[in-house]
Amino acid sequence: MDHFELKNGVLHAEDVALTAIAEAVGTPVYVYSRATLERHARVFAEGLAGVPDKHIAFAVKSNPNLAVLRVLAREGYGADVVSGGEMDRALAAGMPAADIVFSGVGKTAAEMKAACAVGLGQFNLESEEEGVELAEIAAQMGVKATATLRVNPDVDAGTHAKISTGKAENKFGVAYDQAAAIYARLSALEGLNLRGLALHIGSQITSLEPSRAAFAKMGGLMRELRAAGFTVSHMDLGGGLGVPYQIGAQLPGPAEYGAMVAEVTGDWGATIMFEPGRVITGNAGVLLTEVIRVKPGVTAPFVVVDAAMNDLVRPAMYDAWHDFAAVRPTGERMVANIVGPICESSDTFAMGRDIDVVAAGDLGVFRTAGAYGATMANTYNSRPLVPEVMVDGDKWAIVAERIEPATILAAEHVPDWLR
Ligand SMILES: *Cc1c(COP(=O)(O)O)cnc(C)c1O
Repeated sequence: MDHFELKNGVLHAEDVALTAIAEAVGTPVYVYSRATLERHARVFAEGLAGVPDKHIAFAVKSNPNLAVLRVLAREGYGADVVSGGEMDRALAAGMPAADIVFSGVGKTAAEMKAACAVGLGQFNLESEEEGVELAEIAAQMGVKATATLRVNPDVDAGTHAKISTGKAENKFGVAYDQAAAIYARLSALEGLNLRGLALHIGSQITSLEPSRAAFAKMGGLMRELRAAGFTVSHMDLGGGLGVPYQIGAQLPGPAEYGAMVAEVTGDWGATIMFEPGRVITGNAGVLLTEVIRVKPGVTAPFVVVDAAMNDLVRPAMYDAWHDFAAVRPTGERMVANIVGPICESSDTFAMGRDIDVVAAGDLGVFRTAGAYGATMANTYNSRPLVPEVMVDGDKWAIVAERIEPATILAAEHVPDWLR
């Protein structure tokens, strides 16, 4: 459920007409609903009511906007970060360092040092080599780095290949059959406090079965390690729960997911950790865009909008579907292709789609754009970096400014020897 609804024939974010935001800020622009973010954060936490001892770390990469992080910090969420830059954002949003988890296959020595210096809560180690390096850094600094070992459970999450992370051939974690030996070696290191296992099998997962299978497999490894005398007090189950991108799509929600986790982990006697991203932010944002013009096509007309693949790359990169809706729908429908202005055929949001009738100058939104939207934006074709707005009831504010091409141009230099 979200708070983007028609009121008096105009699409609103909470109590603010999207027409007002477009007029004041221009388009394209991302619009987030604070009430929706809060609702999703609460529904996810409530879904885990059957898991008594837990820690929830929002996956910052899905939407790293400072105001978004602030909303989640106020809900008591920690953060899952994958770079020093994301760690700094989580800290700036007021998330305690102890509630931050550092994931990622390529943590640099500088990032690990910076994280140790602030007392970061947990490193999810992706290899033995990384664990050895972190242990040395921590020992030199006179601290112990708290860590889990990320294991690749070799389970197919059944999602798009580019966001599948738990198959044996993927780059993430250590191989399941080597995990126990690596855990034993890393446990002996002075600078590490190795306390558990981590996994994350992919994103936009639309069935509970792959997760259930992966969690059960990890439970087996946990028992094996404990039987050998090692401490396994924390089990990080990652993120990945999918969201409905199409109206009417049926997929498991936080309640079903939480019940499954409670069932699988009920007798584990461990702190269960979660790293949700998309399920919190996905439906909390739309990308607001204006139709530049409609041009005839061979199969269907092309609706050319002022948003493009540089603003929202998911359709081009993951073949993703985003529902499109007019801000002032007339009730009439048309079949159209929706494309952006970028000089690539992959700059296509929809082909042969049944949509609200729109014409030049009309506003529309791509829904469910709050996750992996603005965060993946770039300036391809020397376009501006897309701005972001947050709505709260009848208030709204720009939470990320549009970065103009002139600003980016000013940061480029022609060397003397080319003058
Ligand atoms: C991307 C990622 C997540 C979040 O995934 P969602 O599908 O957005 O929930 C969580 N943990 C790790 C390690 C990730 O890489």
